[in-house]
Amino acid sequence: MTATSKLLKTLILGAPASGKGTISSRIVKKYNVAHVSSGDKLRDHIEKQTDLGKEVKKYLNEGKLVPDNVMIKFMITELNKVENKPWLLDGFPRTVGQADALWKVQPVDIVVNLVVPFDVIIDRVKDRWVHLASGRVYNIGFNTPKVEGKDDVTGEDLVQRPDDKPEAVRKRLEIYDSITRPVIEFYKQKGILKEFEGRTSDEIWPKVTAYLDPFFKK
Ligand code: AMP
Repeated sequence: MTATSKLLKTLILGAPASGKGTISSRIVKKYNVAHVSSGDKLRDHIEKQTDLGKEVKKYLNEGKLVPDNVMIKFMITELNKVENKPWLLDGFPRTVGQADALWKVQPVDIVVNLVVPFDVIIDRVKDRWVHLASGRVYNIGFNTPKVEGKDDVTGEDLVQRPDDKPEAVRKRLEIYDSITRPVIEFYKQKGILKEFEGRTSDEIWPKVTAYLDPFFKK
């Protein structure tokens, strides 16, 4: 099926810090699709202090999943708002209940699953340091601070987020794995899951475009 005959519905799956954000924005730019990110939409509601924002705030703050009934209603409404444009769904579905509900109303055509070894992710996040007061983020080896452990602008100490410590990252990845594995299985059984392996986004990206190009070719 090509984009000329129908509007493609793509879903991207990937662990935290797997490079999902980078690959998603590249897909959005290259194929001119609408980016529907559940996390971004929820954060937007929290910022605007809507009823939904007030309801979901505690889940996001604690890193817990928003209940399925809330998520399903919200995201299906959001997807219905996308008019006459192919879309890329990011962050939803995260449970089989969500995948099932979505399939009944908007079956996706393509599922891209990013497979990055957990050790690589842990290693990458380990090199991330932040200046708490400003939110400036440094990555050792990529944008290394001028003086080790100090913020370039203020000279104040840099810290590691508790969430970014190797034990914490491992825990988050294990939780992701246990919850998402059945979602991956769900799409595997539908025959539409495609896995892309690599250690960096630059390594994965050419494989993604080689796969997606024929779908989006006019
Ligand atoms: P994300 O930016 O995708 O990591 O999402 C941030 C937070 O939003 C998550 O930690 C959850 O609290 C919530 N969230 C986003 N998408 C979903 C979803 N599909 N199901 C449940 N909670 C979600």
